[in-house]
Amino acid sequence: MPTPNPAAQRIFADCAATTQEFLATFAEDRTPAGVVRAVAGIHAYADVSIAGFQAEYRAQGGPASACQAGCAYCCHGPVHLTPLETLHIVLHLASPAVSVDERTHWGERIGQQAARIDGLTVQGQIGRTIACPFLLDDCCGIYAVRPLLCRGRNAFDAAPCRAGFADPTPPQSFTLLQEQMLVGQCLVLGILTELKRHGLPDSCGDLSLTLAHALRTPDTVGRWLAGDGPLAW
Ligand code: SF4
Repeated sequence: MPTPNPAAQRIFADCAATTQEFLATFAEDRTPAGVVRAVAGIHAYADVSIAGFQAEYRAQGGPASACQAGCAYCCHGPVHLTPLETLHIVLHLASPAVSVDERTHWGERIGQQAARIDGLTVQGQIGRTIACPFLLDDCCGIYAVRPLLCRGRNAFDAAPCRAGFADPTPPQSFTLLQEQMLVGQCLVLGILTELKRHGLPDSCGDLSLTLAHALRTPDTVGRWLAGDGPLAW
């Protein structure tokens, strides 16, 4: 039987408590504003927690993260997100922070991407290194509202990321800050657990397929909040 990892257990417990708290508030306020409050709160927790682990690691003499603006190898593959994150991005795209031209641009890119990957397995997508529709000039176009799994991605060395991008077939060996990746994964798990607890649809969906569906469905947010549909494709 594998030995339990106390650090991982602590991350799991802290993320579970965080999602429980924010989803309990959301359950009392199932509105678009409630979605934004819950996801923004969980994102803020993720960012502070990840920054803490990075600082702790550096203080112990560990290497710095190789991730930086303009390095986007990991944005060329499938991304999955929870229904609440989907709604958060839909609300962001509809908000005054995004111009009409930008909204049209993102909508077109998401639709094109969904058509490109429709029918492909996750492995098939990885093999083609298809760029995320929000990737523009090697930067994330929705950085402030990017999914939790994107926040967890990291590497101490960009060389394997670069090699995997050039040829996705041979497996690469990555060194990364496990805690950062775990925070993203545990928060996703926590959101799904709490959605289920509150009787809401609890499946993760592919970013392009799910957003394409959400954007072409009238009143996606209102319908999902009323319990209509899984919001995951
Ligand atoms: S949402 Fe942003 S960070 Fe995530 S894969 Fe797409 S471009 Fe990269």
